[in-house]
Formats: sequence, structure tokens, C-alpha cells
Amino acid sequence: MLTNDEKRGIEEIYTSAMNSSDLRVEADRPGDADVIIVAGWTQARIGGAMLRLHTEYDSTEKPRMADVEYFYEPMLRTAESNGRKLTKEERKNLKRRAHEKKHEFNVQQLSLFLERLKALPDVRQQASLQMMKWGMGQSHDPVTRSERTEVREHDAEMLKRLREAVSAAPEGSAELEAANADLVAAAAEVDGRRRAEAREDFDRCGEKASAIVRWWLHQICPVCGGTKLQVAEGTNRHNGKACGGCDGTGKSEIPHQHEGRRVANWMDQCIERYRASLGHRVYGRQAVEDARAGVEPAAPGASPRIRVRPPRAPLVA
Ligand SMILES: [Zn+2]
Repeated sequence: MLTNDEKRGIEEIYTSAMNSSDLRVEADRPGDADVIIVAGWTQARIGGAMLRLHTEYDSTEKPRMADVEYFYEPMLRTAESNGRKLTKEERKNLKRRAHEKKHEFNVQQLSLFLERLKALPDVRQQASLQMMKWGMGQSHDPVTRSERTEVREHDAEMLKRLREAVSAAPEGSAELEAANADLVAAAAEVDGRRRAEAREDFDRCGEKASAIVRWWLHQICPVCGGTKLQVAEGTNRHNGKACGGCDGTGKSEIPHQHEGRRVANWMDQCIERYRASLGHRVYGRQAVEDARAGVEPAAPGASPRIRVRPPRAPLVA
């Protein structure tokens, strides 16, 4: 979920972008993402925020994760409180439910913990903006999609009709004034609808981004806890087989499939850009200072020489 501050931020960005569009509102314009994207940072800046988030995550004490027994034991006690022992099959089912509870609980613990990280809101917001740009905010539900298309077509039709009325009205007439007022009111209404759609999409992106960022920070398979091995039923010992939850990789599956992979790749790219920009800042500055001092520029990769710039000569009028 997005914080209220993040929502307000988006609202402001959107409103200011919208205010410049006055009567040239098109229901079928490329839209939401393009308007909202004005708030995007450079990849390098996003990469920097991501590394800060990772450092913050690494250096903060993690919440304690529950193990399956924490849920299974009380469940078993309750189930057997009438004196009848559960069958092997019943125990197995109970264990599965305990696993689900444990997973749910741990995801929630982790989410609460992440919400407290200061670098998280920026990273999530920028990831959500990028996802908006890729159209990942749109609902996959065909009914919702076709409803939206219908509304847009209706809006486009309405604005077209009102614009025609404006063009047809004689210059300086009361008719023109009325037609203009109608068009302004309708345009504002359409704006409101597009804005609400964009907010809806952005919320959807925010939720996905949260899950992807959570995965990025904590990729450990919840079934084996990163050990890559299967634990034998009813024991705490490994049975030598690969974990079924992660196929023996020890890592959890990235959420939201191909969208998640695309976002994760983009995150890696942002970090690379950030690292490259750090290098450029050192060597770029060096080259400028070298030129100013009239010396041969240092070869790329040479260790930076720090040179103090001589005081600038006073300007003579
Ligand atoms: Zn596993």
C-alpha cells in the first residue's frame, strides 16, 4: 500500500500537469503515464536510493521470523483436545495449513519492518512510476478493461460534439459563451475521470512494486529458509532432497512473473547507472580540472588526482 504522502505527491504532480492542458483535453490522449512520468528521476538517482535502501535493510535488526511449529503445535493441541489422535493424513493437512499461516505471518512481519525503512518510499514511488510507463498499472480483468475503453470512447465523443458546438457558434454571441462553458465543464469532468483512472493504476503499480522490492531485499525461499534442502516430514532434519519450494535454488520466486523480472532488471540497471555516474563524477571532474590547469588529462582508470582550483581572477569592467 502507498502511504498518504506518496498519494498526495502523485496527486500534486498530476494536478499541476493537468492544469496546463486547459481546453486541449483529449479523452484519447496517450495519457496517464505520460503525464505522471514528469516526476521520474534519473536512473542513477534511483539506483542510489536503492543502494541506500539495501544498506538500511542490511544494517537494521530484522524481525523474528516464525517457524512452522509456532503455528502447528497449538493447532494440533486444539485439534486433539477431544482426546482423539489425528490420523497421519489429517496431521499432514494440518501441517500444510500451519505452513500457509507461517508464510502469511512472515510476509506481514517483513512488510511492517520494511515500512519503517526511510529509503523505501522513494524507491517504491520511482518503481511505480516506471511500471506506469510500461502500462503495468492497467487491470488484467477484461471486464474492467472494456468498461474503461467504453468510458473513454464516450468521453471523446462528448468532447468532440461540444467542440463542434463551439466552432459553429457565431463570434461574440451568447451561444458561444454557453458552448464554451459547457466545454470547460465537460473537460474538467473528463480530467477528473482520467485522474481517477491514473490513481487506480498507480495504486496497482505501488502494490506490485512493494512485493517486488520486498523480494529484491529478501530473496530467501520461505520453505527451506535458503538451505536449498527439503526437511523430512515431522522432523527438523534434512532428508538430502532438494527443496520443493525453490527447486533447490534457495531463492524465492520473483512476484508478478514477467513484470516482476522486468522491474528487477530495471533495478539492476539503475544501480549500474549509479555506479557509473559515481565514476564519471570523479573522472569527469578530474578532466575539467586538468583542462583548467592546462595539463594533459589523466588516462581513464588512473587514480584521481585532487587538485585545488586557483582563485578566479576578478572581472574587469
Ligand atoms: Zn527452498
